[in-house]
Amino acid sequence: MPAPVSFRSRYKPDKVVVEDLSIGAEPIPIRVINNYSDEKPNIFNYATSNRFTNDASKMVAPVGDMKACSCHPRSGCLPGECECEDASSLIFDPESRIVGQPIGTSTYNDHHYVECGSHCKCNRYMSHDYLMKKVEIHYKPNMGFGVIAKQHIAAGMPIINYVGTVVTKEYHDEYRNQLASQTDYIFDNLNEEHSGIAVLTDAAHHGNISRFINHSCDPNTQIVKVYPYIYAHGSEKISLPKIVITASQNIRPGDELFVSYGSSYFHTRNIPCLCYTFCCFVPPFDFEEKAQTEKEAVEERAVRRKAVRENWHNTGDIPSIDPPVFDID
Ligand SMILES: [Zn+2]
Ligand SMILES: [Zn+2]
Ligand SMILES: [Zn+2]
Repeated sequence: MPAPVSFRSRYKPDKVVVEDLSIGAEPIPIRVINNYSDEKPNIFNYATSNRFTNDASKMVAPVGDMKACSCHPRSGCLPGECECEDASSLIFDPESRIVGQPIGTSTYNDHHYVECGSHCKCNRYMSHDYLMKKVEIHYKPNMGFGVIAKQHIAAGMPIINYVGTVVTKEYHDEYRNQLASQTDYIFDNLNEEHSGIAVLTDAAHHGNISRFINHSCDPNTQIVKVYPYIYAHGSEKISLPKIVITASQNIRPGDELFVSYGSSYFHTRNIPCLCYTFCCFVPPFDFEEKAQTEKEAVEERAVRRKAVRENWHNTGDIPSIDPPVFDID
């Protein structure tokens, strides 16, 4: 169902209720638009990196435990030879940072990628910054605040890293009680199969713009876990991945970003989903009359694919804030 173009959005400028939610922390100002009221998002600490509770910081392996690839800088990292690539379930194209394997609407734990770091011999260090594409926050009636793309983004391109407070599952209830917070901004699927350690990333109190991404049963983004180094078997500590929100469909400026919260989010709360996509797994009572058909969804995807192809020059990353340069003699 294409979003109706309102009279206001066509003829009146958007009403900016916050000029920069990140207060200078992001390379671009994060505007909040609310054309319906003066409501602003509740206050939280805008952060560009994770914070760790004491219990969680003890679980994360220090840099000294890192396992690297030994690829030669001249030949580069080749599949079958590079230990980092072999430990990944998908590959990023270094030019456009597109995931090199078709991705569907599968879940968080299905895809992971080990990025080469300065510890690797390949000299191919490719930093995945946490904010890569232009986005802003818009208020919508009945939906609240959501994240809107401000540029074209091709399927497979990383958009933003999910940031929050990293806390172990055991300690999470206690942490929440201390916060006295009722909001749900949790990625509770950071289970480390190999080590048996479960940690959560909770953005109720500390996070970035990604905490505003709403749910859809037909999402246009999905999570890719990006590991900073190869997991060392037998290690009692975890190699904590970055939670990278990556486009799983082509996205145009003005499109809202959606991720799937999973059906249990709705079942445990006993509420229906209001996404009205053809494949909704918790449909409300008026689903039949309002929902988009599969045919409409397929047509819409074709339109988006064409738009992104025609605007490829507009799919680049935003320039990151350069780290301060110190002269070392
Ligand atoms: Zn390599
Ligand atoms: Zn490597
Ligand atoms: Zn739904």
